[in-house]
Amino acid sequence: MSVFRLDIGFAGNPLDRLSSARDDAARLAELAGEARARAVAFVQSMPTLRVEGERLSSFHPLATARAFGAIREEILLGRDENGPVFALLLPDDAACSEAPLDAGAFVDQRRLILPAFPKLQIRDLRALASKDALPRAEIAILAQARAILNYHANHRFCAACGAPTRSAQAGWRRDCPACAAKHFPRTDPAVIVNVANRDFCLLGRQKNFPERMYSCLAGFVEAGETFEEAARREVMEEAGIAVGAVAYVASQPWPFPASVMVGCEAEALSREIAMDRAELEDCRWFSRAEVLALLEGRHDQGFFAPGKIAVARTLLEHWLRDDQVRI
Ligand SMILES: [Zn+2]
Repeated sequence: MSVFRLDIGFAGNPLDRLSSARDDAARLAELAGEARARAVAFVQSMPTLRVEGERLSSFHPLATARAFGAIREEILLGRDENGPVFALLLPDDAACSEAPLDAGAFVDQRRLILPAFPKLQIRDLRALASKDALPRAEIAILAQARAILNYHANHRFCAACGAPTRSAQAGWRRDCPACAAKHFPRTDPAVIVNVANRDFCLLGRQKNFPERMYSCLAGFVEAGETFEEAARREVMEEAGIAVGAVAYVASQPWPFPASVMVGCEAEALSREIAMDRAELEDCRWFSRAEVLALLEGRHDQGFFAPGKIAVARTLLEHWLRDDQVRI
């Protein structure tokens, strides 16, 4: 396999996760007590940001962030050379929004504020990553934080008995005091597939995509499926294309809310598209020259590929770079 760029969006987390400290109360207290302890603080799934001159930073001194509101959860993310990092979850009502959440929107466009801390900016993580508004390592840490905080926000009750659960292991488990069940955070795998047939590849667009954006087909892996089987099923369901060999290319954390995208390329055994209109708005074959134009933003119909935070782009670049059709 050819070597290709490793700067996949939301990857590159530099933290040592200190998993051996999670069950050690004394060690946790020591980490939180370090003068260099920092926190990222989320409200309504968005990070709070300090403005430092012309730069933004999502890192706050831990003690400062603890004062942002009634902290619902505090999770040890790990440490890097600058010290320990925690993730804090603020209650939803700590923030006011100028506009309601549009659940179907591709990017969360709400402008939130914490009334007591009006200088803090609160922004959607996908938008921050797309705009390179923060260093890559910081974006990766925020991805870790967003996924684990979302788990806590949405899994407050025991799935076995219904009793309220509480955070354990520094936020990496939730325990039920009523029935002793232990619940672990989920990461949901989804496959994303670049389906190729000779010098063409299959791209589609979902209704909620930005206008004229085309991407590789994707879907969640279901119970009892391999990644390869999920790839074949998704492509058949969405586009009616039979797929043969499937090969893994690269993966990425995708904390919207808690996935890992498993990027594959696959060989199409047929060319005739039978699109599922409930899933896709359009689906078509693109030539190599067109894919290059999509990536470079100069397609003659104004079509474009996802930005560099998306592993779909990595898959397309990988395919273009492969002179021999290897699949
Ligand atoms: Zn229970």
